[in-house]
Amino acid sequence: MQNLESFKELLNISPKNIVITTHHKPDADALGSSLGLAGFLKKKGHHVQVITPTDYPDFLTWMDGNSEVIIFNEGNETKSGELIEKADIIFCLDFPSLYRINELGEMVREASAAKVLIDHHQEPEDFANFTFWSTSAAATAELIYDLIKDMGDTHLIDKNIAECLYAGIMTDTGSFKHPNTTKNVHLISAELMDHGADVSKVAKLIYDTNSVDRLKFIGFALSQKLVVLKEYRTAYIHITAEELKRFNSKTGDTEGLVNYALSIEGIILAAIIIDRTEAVKMSFRSVGEFSVNEFARDHFEGGGHKNAAGGKSNLTLEETVKKFESLLPKYKDQLNNNARTLTAH
Ligand code: 5GP
Ligand code: MN
Repeated sequence: MQNLESFKELLNISPKNIVITTHHKPDADALGSSLGLAGFLKKKGHHVQVITPTDYPDFLTWMDGNSEVIIFNEGNETKSGELIEKADIIFCLDFPSLYRINELGEMVREASAAKVLIDHHQEPEDFANFTFWSTSAAATAELIYDLIKDMGDTHLIDKNIAECLYAGIMTDTGSFKHPNTTKNVHLISAELMDHGADVSKVAKLIYDTNSVDRLKFIGFALSQKLVVLKEYRTAYIHITAEELKRFNSKTGDTEGLVNYALSIEGIILAAIIIDRTEAVKMSFRSVGEFSVNEFARDHFEGGGHKNAAGGKSNLTLEETVKKFESLLPKYKDQLNNNARTLTAH
């Protein structure tokens, strides 16, 4: 951050009214960095409110502070508007542009509060007074930890804060498997353990709390819905609204499914395409140099990171799948050259 000194000054005079918000359908990094930061700011004597644009998976509700989160689109529009209007500071975590928080975006843009963007996605929008942004950070939670450290306040990190931040780092590195797993990631994780994080407990709460419905849904998707296009080194799964209903699908149930497609040997590009009724939502993953951030941005109104991105389409599910397949020939060389580079050891 360029103006760390004035940022510190802003936070060192308490109490301030602070709102923290994060992206649509928060994942573990979005919610963990928000609740971790909220816990820290409360310890500094501020009044803090976390507002999420939508709900989030049940496997995140163990996080400390969860019960006080306001979910904007669950009848809390007016209340959220008031909090945003009277806020002194608004933190925007784990998203690069205001459209990622739906209707909240314009409220935040118009608010008189000082705005702070903390994020690790590509191409951030220029709307904040303070920006703490790095695409080389594995997770927003990593940036929150670094910020607390830069402020000389790591002594305020307790077990609850540490576990929220650890959850973000663990999931955004794919459990320390993705290329973003740097030395800093491991050092911070170790320091979070020093602050009391029970890493085994966090992993269990996030990964081992499946419902039977979810497991059956994964089984169905992998056995019936997986399409492998060897010539394009691509694998994808598409899911209809009826199938979501049939398996009693809840928020978070499709999370991680795309990784099975990417785990197939030789696959460079994986996608999951889901009919969410209001729109068709897509998740993309890639291996190596193939940028799904660019792919999602160029064709599906989305973006994210080089190897993990999302997007959407207003076509029908069938038309979206057709469009996705029809784009692949254009990328055939790129996908195949990339595969050769990866295996040429
Ligand atoms: P996921 O596929 O897990 O939903 O998201 C992968 C990454 O892409 C995340 O960092 C997420 O924030 C981002 N992302 C997901 N959907 C969208 C979208 O519709 N637009 C943009 N810009 N980013 C997205
Ligand atoms: Mn993140």
